Amino acid sequence: MTQLPLRAQLASALGRTAATLSRVTGRGDGSVIGGRVGLVLEPDLLRQLARDRKLVLVSATNGKTTTTRLITSALTELGEVATNAFGANMPAGHVSALSAHKSAPYGVLEVDEKYLPEVLETTGAGVVCLMNLSRDQMDRAAEIWLLAQKWRRALSGKPTHVIANCDDPLVTWGASTAAKVTWVAGGQRWKEDSWSCPECGGPLDRKGADWACRECTFHRPEPHWVLDDDAVIDPRGHRWVLDLQLPGLANRSNGAMALAVGEAFGLHVQSALPRLREVTSVAGRYTTVERDGRAARLLLSKNPAGWLEAFDVSDPSLPIILSVNAQGPDGRDTSWLWDVDYRILRGRPVHVTGERRLDLALRLDVAEVPFQLYDSFAQAFDALPPGRLDVIANYTAFQQIRSEFGRAV
Ligand SMILES: [Zn+2]
Repeated sequence: MTQLPLRAQLASALGRTAATLSRVTGRGDGSVIGGRVGLVLEPDLLRQLARDRKLVLVSATNGKTTTTRLITSALTELGEVATNAFGANMPAGHVSALSAHKSAPYGVLEVDEKYLPEVLETTGAGVVCLMNLSRDQMDRAAEIWLLAQKWRRALSGKPTHVIANCDDPLVTWGASTAAKVTWVAGGQRWKEDSWSCPECGGPLDRKGADWACRECTFHRPEPHWVLDDDAVIDPRGHRWVLDLQLPGLANRSNGAMALAVGEAFGLHVQSALPRLREVTSVAGRYTTVERDGRAARLLLSKNPAGWLEAFDVSDPSLPIILSVNAQGPDGRDTSWLWDVDYRILRGRPVHVTGERRLDLALRLDVAEVPFQLYDSFAQAFDALPPGRLDVIANYTAFQQIRSEFGRAV
């Protein structure tokens, strides 16, 4: 790799020092502060750090962190990989990730949906992976349509190779201005934000996995890769059983995307697949925490589509604790609780806690799901009999439980 200019070297080194200071003083993993320091000293730092590397940017409403981790694991097969493993998915986090692995020829960067155009412009990444777009907390469909429109503009006229989920009409529309697209039929569980055509506003007709606009020519492209239950069918028609350790349909979809990205980097499925199977937990998600004979599996869910994914992973034979907070990172407005269909929980012991437990309680009552209410997670946990249970929590509730039970990564 070419040497960074002196100013960029200095900015990168000072940024790493700031990150170290932040870590040793207990202010987090330091990836954001370090990157910010670097960018103040050298605004062009991200561009310089990205130069001469093979990069993939990963963006979606849900599954960004997990897919980033899966792709990183796969590309390790080819060489050293720089990645923002802690989910710091804006430019300061990208600067930190690339600074920490200066000589890595590969980079896998999780990118916030809104920042994708800027980061693509700055880094000139050769590959972009796009999975799904849905309302996040209270963002409504009109806002994600604007987001997809920005993706279209950003991808237009660039040589970028896009790997996109063609089962999500809005992602398809957002990706379709790219010069080269590999379509992956990765499935779409949450359809509430894609009943109308993003191109003309007409109704979308669906037939099985297929979809097409009734009023214009916009339709589902022919997929190159297909997620088929527990397996992925590659562009040559070979069927590969995924057998991932990460649970659920959403993660099999993430796995299919990761295999398609791997192939864009020249990595064969046969080599990538064992690497995907090595991933057991991502930033504490799906890990099990234990205390007093009770073993709780933690599922993070940040928005309506995420709740459906968590229900899919959750074991219907087990009791379940639901914990919803409403702090800054969660969004103060929890009226999205009304967008989720909770009837699937009928017949299970349901325990409710978190700052917005009363809102959730009302929602469950209307859905005719019996439940018990607790003031704290610890109370709910202790009230359950020993054995296994599942926990679905939104962002800060999830972090609280992790810190209370010790960080497991
Ligand atoms: Zn249309």
